[in-house]
Amino acid sequence: MTTKVKSLIIGSGPAGYTAAIYLARAGVSSVLFEGQQPGGQLTQTTTIENFPGFPDGVDGFQLMDNMRRQAVNVGADLRNGVVTAINLSQRPFVATLDSGDTIEADTVIVATGASAKYLGLPDEKKYAGQGVSACATCDGFFYRKKVVAVVGGGDTACEEAHYLSNLANKVYMIVRKDHLRASAAMQRRVNEKDNIEILYNTNTLGLFGDGGVQGAHLVRHKGTPEAQEFDIAIDGFFLAIGHRPNTDFLGGQLKLDGQGYILTQPDGSTATSVPGVFAAGDVADPRYRQAVAAAGTGCRAALDAEKYLAR
Ligand code: NDP
Repeated sequence: MTTKVKSLIIGSGPAGYTAAIYLARAGVSSVLFEGQQPGGQLTQTTTIENFPGFPDGVDGFQLMDNMRRQAVNVGADLRNGVVTAINLSQRPFVATLDSGDTIEADTVIVATGASAKYLGLPDEKKYAGQGVSACATCDGFFYRKKVVAVVGGGDTACEEAHYLSNLANKVYMIVRKDHLRASAAMQRRVNEKDNIEILYNTNTLGLFGDGGVQGAHLVRHKGTPEAQEFDIAIDGFFLAIGHRPNTDFLGGQLKLDGQGYILTQPDGSTATSVPGVFAAGDVADPRYRQAVAAAGTGCRAALDAEKYLAR
């Protein structure tokens, strides 16, 4: 089945939902496909304290549900489905969904966000679902009164370690540098917890265990004369080393930067290298990667698409 719309929005994080709200209110026929994880990354976080308008903070899942309901209330057409491929060389653009259906659209807003990165160790695959996770709020429940490790030294790693420290008996943070990259506020929260131990200058070599993770092989001062290998006993291994933008389905049709983020025009708009295609949210934002920033670019992408259609 083929559906024809003025604007196709791909992705359902703050950027996608905001774009849908703006286009629906402007009376532009559009459809939004929610992707594999409706609501996006924020549905996996706990309390969000830096999204304006919520003086007492707001649960990430609740915030995204609010955005979704707001979009529906103003008449947005939100649908389940994953865009698996898109042809940007013809007009209208044609997107193919996992169901096999196609969508024809005069403009496209790419708001597909980013996914968690892994270290690339074979053991991460070997123990997938058996002790390896990239989402503490999804899987932390399984590690009550156990010992876990979180890899990374950024805000995500600190947030995940803090969350896990309320469930597990002990949390190691495996940090490759001699300092954390996280904000001072996040560092303070981690330092206040007695059951979080930070292993600085430490990298992971592998995992071990029968039928599930039972420990990690680590190395301190990797690649130096003082390098020292050691093991820790853990039940869970959580990755929190950043994200990579979800652009595979574009098949190289849009210009990307060296890290794979969609490049937008230097004039500050959300226009990409293909006229009529706009990018919003984390998929085009290697710098800020904040929910409120994503919502802002979703608004801008909708206004840019509207202007393009009017031309
Ligand atoms: P970051 O890119 O900020 O941090 C990634 C961390 O992982 C760094 O400590 C980095 O080490 C480490 N790392 C990266 N690759 C490897 C590797 N191969 N092996 C070992 N360690 C590695 O990502 P985050 O996801 O933490 O944060 C992304 C953005 O989201 C940031 O702007 C952050 O501020 C924001 N954020 C804000 C939150 C909040 O305000 N509540 C919560 C969560 C995120 P190194 O420092 O050595 O590069």
